Amino acid sequence: MKADQIDDVVKLLREAYRGFVEPVVTQVAKDKDPYKVLISTILSLRTKDETTLRASIRLFDIADNIYKLNELNEDEIERLIYPVGFYKTKAKNLKKIARIIIENYGGKIPDDLDELLKLPNVGRKTANLVLAKGFGKPAICVDIHVHRISNRLGLVDTKTPEETEFALSKILPKKYWIEFNDLLVPFGQNICRPISPFCSKCIISKYCKRKGVNKSR
Ligand code: SF4
Repeated sequence: MKADQIDDVVKLLREAYRGFVEPVVTQVAKDKDPYKVLISTILSLRTKDETTLRASIRLFDIADNIYKLNELNEDEIERLIYPVGFYKTKAKNLKKIARIIIENYGGKIPDDLDELLKLPNVGRKTANLVLAKGFGKPAICVDIHVHRISNRLGLVDTKTPEETEFALSKILPKKYWIEFNDLLVPFGQNICRPISPFCSKCIISKYCKRKGVNKSR
């Protein structure tokens, strides 16, 4: 795929998107609340979407802002978020995050990449998602789906999600930065699957170099 075909591919992915279930963080992000985007994204790491959604709802019912989260103890957070992956470590880190945000940022989630990256359990993927979905700032959230599909398409040639983020930031028009993750995550879950993608029913196959794809359906 060439960079000048991005407009066409995005249009087709938007069409495909209508038939998919939205990723959980996209659902949570409808409130445009950076706190909820941050916490849900942390819960979603190594966790299935349905589990993340249920855990987010339970937690936000009790703690819909950083101050209420800070009032909970680790055991209470653990109980509310169980069974998300690494729930014990996440409970510990959520408690720490609440304290840091209140003490160092006046209770407001920072809208700055470097500041977000200082928080425990927050890597580039989470930080960029908070900027994009919580604050509406142009940021490319590269998770395993965005990384894998961008490489298969031949849009980038990279080894890590971080390299993909930097490569995409050079070729992807800024108007698509926020949306790109939304489009590629459900597409990766449903069509361009990690093992044996459904190339025969792929809406963007004519643009794809299928780099690294040895087996497909
Ligand atoms: S053609 Fe296959 S490898 Fe390429 S984007 Fe579609 S499903 Fe993925």
